[in-house]
Amino acid sequence: MTRRKLVAGNWKMNGTAADLGEATQISMAAETADGVDVALCVPATLIVRACTATPGFAIGGQDVHAAANGAHTGDISAAMLEDAGASVVIVGHSERREAHGETSEAVAAKAEAALNSTLDVIVCCGESLDVREAGHAVTNVTDQIAASLPANADAQRLSVAYEPIWAIGTGKVAGPEEIGEMHAAIRSKLAEKLGEDAANAVRILYGGSVNGDNAAEIFAIDHVDGALVGGASLTAAKFVPIIHAATGRSV
Ligand code: PEP
Repeated sequence: MTRRKLVAGNWKMNGTAADLGEATQISMAAETADGVDVALCVPATLIVRACTATPGFAIGGQDVHAAANGAHTGDISAAMLEDAGASVVIVGHSERREAHGETSEAVAAKAEAALNSTLDVIVCCGESLDVREAGHAVTNVTDQIAASLPANADAQRLSVAYEPIWAIGTGKVAGPEEIGEMHAAIRSKLAEKLGEDAANAVRILYGGSVNGDNAAEIFAIDHVDGALVGGASLTAAKFVPIIHAATGRSV
């Protein structure tokens, strides 16, 4: 099966209105990125303005609450993200799992809420350095993703991002064998949980210090269907070469 590549940026807690010019330039590059989907997950405060600045381009959120509404101070629901113009949301990023104590069960509930709306969802998983060094990375990550899958998984609207925690924002990238082994193991786990056809439709992204210099090599690995990009998504100068690499264009 041919899966369109997805290159998604995650601005994390970075960006104000002054940075929307970067989003505009990125959206213009996305328009000519043949065969590649591009999305930018901005802080919640920027979603409306980013959507206005980039008509037709996929703007996303970085988290969603599992509940539809209610007494959840500081949280945001799927309907609110939709209302703001978002079309996709990241759930289960390791920074949320670690800093906010999110369990895989909570992540699955968030993904379910997203899929019950019109939002596509990117479910993140990844192992710590300790787990990798102890030789348990594959079991750890496949268990994590199995427990993070929503009950209403819709393969066309679901992506999985494998992001080794030790590679996020560190400049260290997992090696091609490590990435290939993990993505194949995730695909097998998805087949076990969702069936072969659905598993083959889910896009599995790699995340962790992806940049314009290493993207082409990463995209050439089996079962790598795109990237989730943090630091290098903050500027068009760094993000656009990654988009071009996904199209197969030389950078
Ligand atoms: C991320 O946090 O999703 C990420 C991959 O960050 P970076 O690209 O900066 O490593």
